[in-house]
Amino acid sequence: MVVIGIAMLQGARHAHMDAILSAATELSMDIEIVELRTKDDLENHSIDALMLPGGESTVMRLRGNDDTSRLLPALFNWMRENEARPVLATCAGAILLADPQDGGAPLIDADIDRNAFGRQADSFESALDCGFPGVFIRAPRFGEVRDTVECTLSGEVVGVRRGNRIALTFHPELSEDSRYHRMLLEACA
Ligand code: GLN
Repeated sequence: MVVIGIAMLQGARHAHMDAILSAATELSMDIEIVELRTKDDLENHSIDALMLPGGESTVMRLRGNDDTSRLLPALFNWMRENEARPVLATCAGAILLADPQDGGAPLIDADIDRNAFGRQADSFESALDCGFPGVFIRAPRFGEVRDTVECTLSGEVVGVRRGNRIALTFHPELSEDSRYHRMLLEACA
C-alpha cells in the first residue's frame, strides 16, 4: 500500500485527489490518501509521497505557518530529510518549493515570478511541447532554472524537476491526462 499525503491548506485539493485515484486505477496500485492539515497529521502517518496543490501561495503560507497548523515547516523538513522523496507541486505549490521563505535552501532551484502569466482573466489552456494539455490559472513563470527542465510551453520552461520532486506552473489535475500523477505513484514503487 502506497500512502500519498496531500497538503489541505487551501486550493485545488479535491481535484488532485480524484486525479491520483484515477492514476492509481490506471496503474492497478493500492493507495491511501492522507489529508494533511497540521504538523501532527504528517507525524502520525508515514507518507511515501506528497502532493502540494495550487491555489494561493500567500494563503497557504499564512495557514501553514500558523501555530495551529505548522504544516508548512514540517513539510519542508520532510522533503529536506530525504531528497529522494517524491513530490508533485503545482502552481502555488511550485511557488512554495522555489521560494520557501523559511531561511532554508529552496526545494527546487529556479527563480519564480508569481502571477507573471497575468490575472485570472488571462488564464488559458494550451498544449505543452510534449503534448500535455496545460491549464494555466494566474500562473507563475519560471525565470532562471538551475534544476532539470521537466516540460516547456513554446520553449518556455513550465515544469522543473529535481529527482523525484516535480514543480509545475500549470494544473495537471484539471486535465484528463494523469501522466504527472502516475509519475508520482511510479516514483514510490
Ligand atoms: N497566483 C497564485 C499564487 O501566487 C498561484 C495560482 C495557482 O495556483 N493557480 O500563489
